[in-house]
Amino acid sequence: MKETRERLALLRGQVREWTADILPYAAELERDPDTVLRMVDLPLLAGAATLQIPAEYAPSCLVIGRERFDLRTALERVVFFEEGARADAGLLLSVPGPDMAGSLVDALGDRPQKDWFYGRLLERPTWTCFAMTESERGSDATSMATSLTPSSDEDCLVLSGGKRFVGNAVRAGIAVVFARMSPGPLGIRAVLVDTATPGFSAEPIPTVGLRGIQLGAITLDAVRVPGEHLLGRHLPAIRQGMWGWLRTFNLWRTVIAAMGVGVAAAAHAYVVEERRTPPRHVQEQLDAMDQRILSVRQLTYRAARAVDADPSDGALACAAKLAAARLADRTAQEALSLLGAGARLDHPRLDKMARDAQGLEFMEGTSNLQRLSVFNDVMRGGGRPHGIAAASGERPVGT
Ligand SMILES: Cc1cc2nc3c(=O)[nH]c(=O)nc-3n(C[C@H](O)[C@H](O)[C@H](O)COP(=O)(O)OP(=O)(O)OC[C@H]3O[C@@H](n4cnc5c(N)ncnc54)[C@H](O)[C@@H]3O)c2cc1C
Repeated sequence: MKETRERLALLRGQVREWTADILPYAAELERDPDTVLRMVDLPLLAGAATLQIPAEYAPSCLVIGRERFDLRTALERVVFFEEGARADAGLLLSVPGPDMAGSLVDALGDRPQKDWFYGRLLERPTWTCFAMTESERGSDATSMATSLTPSSDEDCLVLSGGKRFVGNAVRAGIAVVFARMSPGPLGIRAVLVDTATPGFSAEPIPTVGLRGIQLGAITLDAVRVPGEHLLGRHLPAIRQGMWGWLRTFNLWRTVIAAMGVGVAAAAHAYVVEERRTPPRHVQEQLDAMDQRILSVRQLTYRAARAVDADPSDGALACAAKLAAARLADRTAQEALSLLGAGARLDHPRLDKMARDAQGLEFMEGTSNLQRLSVFNDVMRGGGRPHGIAAASGERPVGT
């Protein structure tokens, strides 16, 4: 097998070629998030719809040269999402396919559940969503109130409550919904829901950034879910709930980090393109931005390798996500300032990057929560704060 670096370069080149097709749709998608429904035949979206599906279900994987890719590792996903986000982060988050829901099904699903989930995804491009957040309880997922109770008349469960800020909720055919079956953190479970089931409804929520993902609010009005759709039912109690979602978060934190790197790189490239002969002080600023992007990219790749080696090892993933969300926001703001007064109006593409960058902070845990995770890891003796801080271009605390 070729060296990993060469393999990843092949994938990067392919994704970069595909993103050229999506750029013309970016402005339209910003006005109308449903534009994505008309884009499903473009290679990037068609690829995303079936890649990430395990080999035992997938009809074929992506072959470039003699190399095969299925986007199942964090490292391959990081390449795909970084390159995609350079073109349009909002679109990347609104592609059909298994995404986060698939990672949870991989961790907690039994054979019939995987047959059902992947079977549906292979029938036609299908969007999925991962419904955890609730109003007033955002970051404190363990206090969620949506209930999952056994039905009295047949072998099914009844889902009641509501979810908020769920990506792709309005267009999803399958939702993974988290709910409480009993008190305490171990009482939280996830179920697979066909969104056509009576009682399930989703409404779009207007946002200023990442409009392609079309955040939604879900209402669950006594939705009946077959008992066999309860994820983790075949696993020991300790592995039925949080164990699966923490692994899913670790993986997807590296993906969001990669998107932050992609957005920052795109903002930097935009200014380089606009200011062909910059004065020395601007050139120095651009060089410093470039260095920061490079260091956070290295941290992100290191985090992806750590998650691939051990899906339960999320400390670097949290650090990378924290650093990359901040990097994307800071770089986009700096890029706007380098283009002078009125840059938001004169450069709508850069303005969009700046708005999209701000949304990255909230996905897979806000920055405060990533800080808490890194801190907890350091207190347990697992972290290397100086290494993490140095790799993210920051001065270590206390020096
Ligand atoms: C673009 C986008 C996509 C999203 N996609 C999904 C999705 O697909 N599925 C889904 O379920 N959710 C999704 N979310 C929701 C996201 O996970 C929540 O926004 C996030 O959990 C934060 O919740 P909140 O907005 O209610 O903020 P809150 O939890 O109310 O936090 C508000 C502030 O308080 C801070 N804070 C909270 N708790 C603590 C603490 N213990 N210590 C210190 N500070 C704290 C936070 O850092 C933040 O600054 C998405 C959000 C966005 C913006």
